[in-house]
Amino acid sequence: MASGPREKVAAIIVAAGRGTRAGASDVPKQFRAVGGEVMLRRTLALFAGARELELVQTVIHADDDARYHAAAKGFDLLPPVHGGATRQASVRAGLEALAAHAPDIVLIHDAARPFATAALVARAIDAARQTGAAIPALAVTDTIKRVDEGGHVGETLERAMLRAVQTPQAFAFQPLLAAHRNALRERRDDFTDDAALAEWAGMTVTTFAGEPGNIKITNPEDFMRAEAMTMDQLGDIRTGTGIDVHAFSLGDHVILGGISIPHSESLRGHSDADVALHALTDALLGALANGDIGSHFPPSDEQWRNASSDRFLKFAVDQVAVRGGRIAHLDLTIVCEAPKIGPHRDAMRESIARIAGIDIGRVAVKATTSERLGFTGRGEGIAAYATATVRLPWGET
Ligand code: MG
Repeated sequence: MASGPREKVAAIIVAAGRGTRAGASDVPKQFRAVGGEVMLRRTLALFAGARELELVQTVIHADDDARYHAAAKGFDLLPPVHGGATRQASVRAGLEALAAHAPDIVLIHDAARPFATAALVARAIDAARQTGAAIPALAVTDTIKRVDEGGHVGETLERAMLRAVQTPQAFAFQPLLAAHRNALRERRDDFTDDAALAEWAGMTVTTFAGEPGNIKITNPEDFMRAEAMTMDQLGDIRTGTGIDVHAFSLGDHVILGGISIPHSESLRGHSDADVALHALTDALLGALANGDIGSHFPPSDEQWRNASSDRFLKFAVDQVAVRGGRIAHLDLTIVCEAPKIGPHRDAMRESIARIAGIDIGRVAVKATTSERLGFTGRGEGIAAYATATVRLPWGET
């Protein structure tokens, strides 16, 4: 961070493209999922969370309002503006929207680069502070040749002098805005990045270190690579188990997996005695090595009396999210002679999947009797056993 009065730093996320090269889907590529999360949301998460950034302005296509609001939910961002027919026009729309806020520095980033890091954003800001126009660049490892229309090689370019450039590109705000306005006046709309426009406007553009992982997702092959990258990022796989038991008492229904099942007795407990959700909660907390349901929700605390147990499970689910992780699978086994679980299996799976925010295909509910042996066999209560598999980012402890 430079000393002196704090500069106002803004970012424009360019997300107005139609992305037709990414495959047959009619959903623009920036709204397609990468590793289970919408690509634009991944990109926005980085920029919304960057402490150096005061303003984040997204530029979208007019057809994508609903998709945008779903992708940006919960983030503190400026209202989106609609882009133009070209990338350049879209960036200009973003700059014009930011002009009222008078930022000192602006970063321009493509939504289709969801793997940029906070370190790269920080480098971009530092570089723009020092030089007024800076772009992330990587040395080129392939030999690059110039070919004619027939594919015949005309020239081998000097590799040491070549760079592959990325976004975020970072600029002093006013000069970049002026350059975009000049380009509009002079009917130049063919610049493929802001550096090219800045060069045309006579600005000196410098480079800073880009990131090999900061790939631009364009083709189906890029999506496959991105998928592999997200799996690798969440490759720290943890497993937790949870066990719970509740005894029967007078009543006419039991709560299992968040649903009510008619029965000749109810389960006794401080909360709603949902033995299934309690076991799942402990399994998730176990996977995180983060205490157990009793340490987070002590039975001595009156506020949990008759509590609906979905809040316990939701708490554990939120703990996974706080760690940047993802629930890969929940597996539950219920042991009782009665009631029969089978007829309610899919309703329970649906209920658990909803609370956990995961697909129903990632929730298993199984049931067994204990052959009339033990307390479950004697019909004194219900036991539940759960296993949770959680993927965490590497580097966590
Ligand atoms: Mg319990």
